[in-house]
Parts: sequence; structure tokens; C-alpha cells
Amino acid sequence: MDNCIFCKIARGEIPCRKVYEDSEVLAFHDINPVAPVHFMMIPKLHLASLVEAGEAHTALLGKMLLLAPRLAKEQGLENGFRAVINTGKGGGQEVFHLHIHVIGGGNIPPMVRRS
Ligand code: 5GP
Ligand code: ZN
Repeated sequence: MDNCIFCKIARGEIPCRKVYEDSEVLAFHDINPVAPVHFMMIPKLHLASLVEAGEAHTALLGKMLLLAPRLAKEQGLENGFRAVINTGKGGGQEVFHLHIHVIGGGNIPPMVRRS
């Protein structure tokens, strides 16, 4: 996708602070982190969101999920992490190239506050 910022990062046209790369997956630090460790995992294949993923992507998505704890540990998150996939406008997604946020370190509050 020509105008997709994460495709540009995957192609090396926009620099990133790389965490991990193989032929199918790239992980890089978020430019605007919400916690001491905050990186994103993306498939190099352009999928706009989880909604656009299908059965053909089962192995790719499974691989990414299984990679998350390994990369989190390598980034120093020994006690766990939060993985978030914002999906669509209703899910607060801003960059429409599927990505998994991996967030941790410091105090991670409960995700949903109940009053
Ligand atoms: P979303 O809200 O779509 O789930 O998350 C998009 C994320 O991408 C945001 O956390 C934002 O900080 C990050 N982001 C947007 N543009 C760039 C960029 O050019 N480089 C990096 N490393 N992160 C970006
Ligand atoms: Zn893309």
C-alpha cells in the first residue's frame, strides 16, 4: 500500500527503532509510548485491521501472538505485558495497518475502570 505509514516502515522508507524482524513480521518501538516499554508488531503484509484478516492469515497471526511474550521478555518485561489490537474506528484504531501493541513496565492500570 503506497500511502500506508506502517507499510513504509516495513519497506524501510520511514525509519523506526526496530525490535525484531523476519520475512513476515516487523516489531518496532511506538513513536509516542504510553509506558516505559511500548512496541508494535506488524505483519509486513498490508491488512488494514483484524476485520480484514481471514483464514489465510491464521498462521501469520498465530506466529505474531506467540512471538509477543518472547519479544516482551527481551525488552525487559519479566512480569508480563498488555497486548492490544485496536480494531476499526469503533476500537480507536488510528493507523489502518494491523498491529499488536505490546505495552509494559511501570504501573499498568486496569484496562477498564469500573465506578
Ligand atoms: P492505533 O491507535 O492505530 O492502535 O495505534 C497507532 C500507533 O502508531 C500509535 O500508538 C502511534 O503512536 C504510533 N505511530 C504512528 N505513527 C508512527 C510512526 O511513524 N512511527 C512509529 N514508530 N509509531 C507510530
Ligand atoms: Zn500497510
